[in-house]
Amino acid sequence: MPDSNAAAVRMAPRTGRQLREGDVAWVGSEPRLRAARCLDCDTRVFPAATVCPSCNGERMAELPLSDTGTLYAFSTVHIAPAMWQTPYTIGYVDLPEGVRVFGKIEPVAGLAPDARVRVCLEQADDDAQAPGWRYWFAAA
Ligand SMILES: [Zn+2]
Repeated sequence: MPDSNAAAVRMAPRTGRQLREGDVAWVGSEPRLRAARCLDCDTRVFPAATVCPSCNGERMAELPLSDTGTLYAFSTVHIAPAMWQTPYTIGYVDLPEGVRVFGKIEPVAGLAPDARVRVCLEQADDDAQAPGWRYWFAAA
């Protein structure tokens, strides 16, 4: 019979979404989220794709994203898998390049749509076989 106290040991959900190494672009020495722009129809996609989801074109250019954006919408999650700590906040952020990115948001008092947020990126070393990055948003 499972230990009924096991659910009492809860984890924070991962800090941000896991990205592959290639999902990050470099602007000088600064890592940035990497999107792609279709050279045929100008559709912008994050994470970057090699085929345009709008026109199926294969002429895609790298599009490094800005490190600040505008909060479009957010929600605080209070009910989650038993092993995750709640609450946590998620939402969509509009970046100046015309891309809306979903991610975790550091909760702050007074968080509201149209708030300025910054993109936080860090290397994720919890999978030595496939190192990558994780990102989240925080108040700017
Ligand atoms: Zn296209």
